[in-house]
Amino acid sequence: MQGVGFRPYVHRLATGMGLFGWVRNSSNGVEIEVEGEAAALASFIHTLPQQKPPHAIIASLQTRLIPCHYIAGFVIRPSLANPGNHRHLPLDLATCHACKQELFDPDNRRYRYPFINCTDCGPRYSILTGMPYDRANTTMAAFALCDPCAAEYHDPGNRRFHAEPNACPRCGPVLQYGNRDGTVVATADAALQLAITALRDGKIIAVKGLGGFHLLVDARIEEAVLRLRTRKHRRRKPFAVMFPDLAQVATACELSAEEASLLASPQAPIVLLQRLKENQAVCKAVAPDQPTLGVMLPYTPLHHLLLDALGFPVVATSGNLSDEPLCKDETEMVAMLGQIADAYLAHNRPIANRIDDSVLFVSHGKPVMLRASRGYAPLHIELDEAVLRPLMATGGQLKNTVALAAGHSLLISPHIGDLSALATVRAQRETIETLCSLYAIQPERVACDLHPDYQSTRTAEKLGLPLTGIQHHEAHARSCMAEHRLRGKALGIVWDGTGYGTDGTIWGGEFLQINIRGFQRVAHFLPFPLPGGERAIREPRRAALGVRYAIDGDDCFADLHVSTNDFSTAELAILQQMLTNRTNCPMTSSVGRLFDAVASLTGLCHVSDFEGEAAMALQHAAAAAMADNTVYPFVISPLDESGLNVDWRPMLRQIIDEVAHNHAVGRIAANFHMTLAQMAVAVAQQIGEKVILLSGGCFQNRLLQEQTCQALKTAGFEVYHHHLLPANDGGLAAGQIMTAIPIFQET
Ligand code: ZN
Ligand code: ZN
Ligand code: FE
Repeated sequence: MQGVGFRPYVHRLATGMGLFGWVRNSSNGVEIEVEGEAAALASFIHTLPQQKPPHAIIASLQTRLIPCHYIAGFVIRPSLANPGNHRHLPLDLATCHACKQELFDPDNRRYRYPFINCTDCGPRYSILTGMPYDRANTTMAAFALCDPCAAEYHDPGNRRFHAEPNACPRCGPVLQYGNRDGTVVATADAALQLAITALRDGKIIAVKGLGGFHLLVDARIEEAVLRLRTRKHRRRKPFAVMFPDLAQVATACELSAEEASLLASPQAPIVLLQRLKENQAVCKAVAPDQPTLGVMLPYTPLHHLLLDALGFPVVATSGNLSDEPLCKDETEMVAMLGQIADAYLAHNRPIANRIDDSVLFVSHGKPVMLRASRGYAPLHIELDEAVLRPLMATGGQLKNTVALAAGHSLLISPHIGDLSALATVRAQRETIETLCSLYAIQPERVACDLHPDYQSTRTAEKLGLPLTGIQHHEAHARSCMAEHRLRGKALGIVWDGTGYGTDGTIWGGEFLQINIRGFQRVAHFLPFPLPGGERAIREPRRAALGVRYAIDGDDCFADLHVSTNDFSTAELAILQQMLTNRTNCPMTSSVGRLFDAVASLTGLCHVSDFEGEAAMALQHAAAAAMADNTVYPFVISPLDESGLNVDWRPMLRQIIDEVAHNHAVGRIAANFHMTLAQMAVAVAQQIGEKVILLSGGCFQNRLLQEQTCQALKTAGFEVYHHHLLPANDGGLAAGQIMTAIPIFQET
């Protein structure tokens, strides 16, 4: 592991034991040569893993005897740069306790210096321009170390020994505060003070963080947060909030020990927490109607200085226009954020690689990944069998990530974003180039989604390499297998919004029997029409109409007593025509769309503002009503060669009836979740595969994941769901690689 103080540790350990030799970084890991008495050597090997630095991970330790070289002393040798497998890129780490203490110590020479760091903390991947991880290969290369900093850097006994971004007020980066047009108004501490004053005044400030700009605003002032929403064109999608400390988080949200330690970890991700009712810590506009809140703690010295002075929570949302990648420098910031931020606080340490905040939640005491980025990605998964010819995968359309595989390594990029924006497509290309160069991997083959219109498919085609298209839901299932390092047979239960099926229709409620190479679609949800196709994704009321049409056919138009779902009479006439003539009405087996339909039928959400809003509304309504639930009727019937058919119409008939009789929406939502879990069990029992995988975007829904998992386990199945990789399309690239490996190895 690089950048975690491992070499200094080895140096201290060896010299402490009176051993001679050297240590160095190489692209294969850390190499150590030690000479001494046999007993001391044995004790060194024994102690090495036991007293390692907190962030060091020893994946494997191999030792062998070599002839004695009679070396005097113990030295840290320069890193060995040879092309090969850099399995672990150094990841950005939140400010450590010792540095935070120094930051607020008036007697320290780095008192209030916003770029303080050490071998245990600070920027890594975000400043990395090459490998191995040495100062020359970071954006700190342009800053020459002053004498005191150089002394620390070269002293094996110092906690800044080989801290690559080591810096101080004399020799390191400097803050700047500027107007929205980019003119610099103040530098250093004066810049910080202006930013603090502006934030206190309710202004919106763009702040340069580790991997890009955030937009900050006082989270308590409704008017200020609404101003941010208007300028960012973001109506209801929740904002994340940075709190000064854990104590303040605990006044606003439920906070378990696991959640607290995740927030305070070196990865310092955004953690989704349950809000306390009636809490006024943040205003309504931060996360309208959401019972949860995305929370994080300060993770750079600059954040600590800001939040310490402010003493109140601030909205900290990605500095970008919706769907576009983060701004990473002042020029991009002025171009993109000029109309959003009132001013900016930046600095002259360049960001080499953009990286978003990671997002997780805790389920049954264990973290579940929603977005793998800063602190976690690039992710590394060890492969059991070596990949002989390097391979790449370009992921999906939304929540895009890319992946590489070479040797025994599967490497997954940080979150890139939604490829419907041109700037994100550029960012994807950048990420591919960066990763290939940092890992020194030249892909010889590429895998992508089967969907002909995904931008990621275009990216793959342009590479000019042997290409294979991977079915969307098979990739989901295999991403789950990859993270649990499963092989062989399993039943993949993959539920999501949309994915291109092998028959050209939209899949999304799939039961795939996975074997060593390939899959069989053994069951799926009954397909229903989506009037308007793509438009239905943003309009759950269209899914509701499609579902009603699947139940009653043309009769549904005569009997829209439940609700007309906000449609005007004219709109309804057009939709009726679409449905009866089957024009622009693709059929889908999507469980995500079924969630949409129920959310609209129960009046929770007819038109959504952001992806997943309707499903979240249904989940939250259900979570508040989980007691004495009943399972709705459903039928599983063998249909055709495409396997079993999960007919949900009896369930939906009853839901429509209950809505008409004013049953509590929460109860209906809860029963719906329970019924889906029982559908999974019923299919699994007919298929008879013991190992079950749960994947796809629907399983980001904590309630659905927990209910389904529980029901299957009770029925005696062995169930695997996601922790490390996201269940959503962020996991696709990893699954595409796993699917493509045997395909390519045959050719
Ligand atoms: Zn530190
Ligand atoms: Zn210095
Ligand atoms: Fe998907």
